[in-house]
Amino acid sequence: MNKEYIDKILEYTNLQNVWRVKETINLIASENVMSPLALTVYMSDFMNRYAEGKPFKRYYQGTKYSDELEVMSNELMGKLLHTDMVDIRPISGTIANASVFRILAEPGEQAVIAPVQAGAHVSHTKFGTLGALGIKQIELPYDEERMNVDIDKAIKVIEQVKPKFAVLGGSVYLFPHPVKEISNAIHSVNGKLVYDSAHVLGLIVGNAWRNPLDHGADVMTSSTHKTFPGPQGGVIAFKDKDLYKEVGKTIFPWFLSNHHLHRLPATAITALEMIEFGEAYAKQITRNAKKLAESLAERGFKVIGEHLGYTMSHQVLVDVSPQGGGAKIAKMLEDGNIILNKNLLPHDPPEAVQNPSGLRIGVQEMTRFGMKEDEMDQIAEFIEKIAIKKEDISKVREEVKEFRKNYQKVHYGYSSDLINGKYVNLLNLLI
Ligand SMILES: *Cc1c(COP(=O)(O)O)cnc(C)c1O
Repeated sequence: MNKEYIDKILEYTNLQNVWRVKETINLIASENVMSPLALTVYMSDFMNRYAEGKPFKRYYQGTKYSDELEVMSNELMGKLLHTDMVDIRPISGTIANASVFRILAEPGEQAVIAPVQAGAHVSHTKFGTLGALGIKQIELPYDEERMNVDIDKAIKVIEQVKPKFAVLGGSVYLFPHPVKEISNAIHSVNGKLVYDSAHVLGLIVGNAWRNPLDHGADVMTSSTHKTFPGPQGGVIAFKDKDLYKEVGKTIFPWFLSNHHLHRLPATAITALEMIEFGEAYAKQITRNAKKLAESLAERGFKVIGEHLGYTMSHQVLVDVSPQGGGAKIAKMLEDGNIILNKNLLPHDPPEAVQNPSGLRIGVQEMTRFGMKEDEMDQIAEFIEKIAIKKEDISKVREEVKEFRKNYQKVHYGYSSDLINGKYVNLLNLLI
């Protein structure tokens, strides 16, 4: 028996759990935590099983409960997104994009995407999924002043190029992309509009961000684990019936065989939480992001987007080049138990990716742990102590740990008290 390895595996996993869940201020904009109830159902026998194909039309036996749960997950997500055409099978946001892009264009055909400065995800680009599918990328023009797609110039590009589809939505963005205007333009050349809501899904279902499906998008692709605090996974929601059918035929068998069934009950529980608490959760996130931006600016940081009110999303962008650059400051903050990522800012050249001038900050996870505006001010103070005042980092780390002790419970979600006495935990069946 390889006890040494086993002990190491247990040790690292344990250290990860305690450090990242209990002791750090996590500000990674693409992460979140599930509620105790979602986590409980996530750890189920579904994680051992297969269910190729669609509910009630599977290729294997033994799927009657996953069939029910898949239909239910699609239904609940559809309720939140105002459509009855949802497919929860993509196992990630990238797979959701691949499934949709592949149907909308053949290799060699063209797509227009949001400008990279306005936050487009790598999967929208020639370096990612779009490129892997052989679809040509054309970037829409950028309006520096509005930090967004340049609408007039974008319409001209679309009319000229006549692309098969346009992609909006992104990974680093503070303000909503112009869905209505771009959808009108792309529809006028018989193309489709894809909105990738991976980052903002939790804001959309909480009515703190415009639902792109209500404003002209034909299809919405997403992850289910960023501001939407579910298990890691993907989802596609449609307004276009033909597209719904076509994409449904290709997710399996083109882009996956099994779709990781333990996501289904956990996503359904998270959807129910968003139906009940989503609005309060999303509103608090946007208030917190604005407050954090203001507080950082007051303390002398160069916060992006001041002239536009800093942010409308869960994100805050800070230019830390005066403090030594994104790479250096992100590492110093990590040593102080504040976890975030360095990021290219709209004005950075693409080559600066290893040492960009910015930090990307997301407040969704700390909001879920119950933090409000006062706590955002406290977080700004910790960041100031490390990045500007150059205080002893190990001392700040202890303060961060102490502060974090008061925010250990998941809010806006269901507790394990709802588990009825008959529920049998997978682990208990095996020991
Ligand atoms: C995170 C992200 C993705 C990719 O999602 P995964 O679930 O990590 O594959 C796609 N699009 C956008 C805009 C993202 O931010």
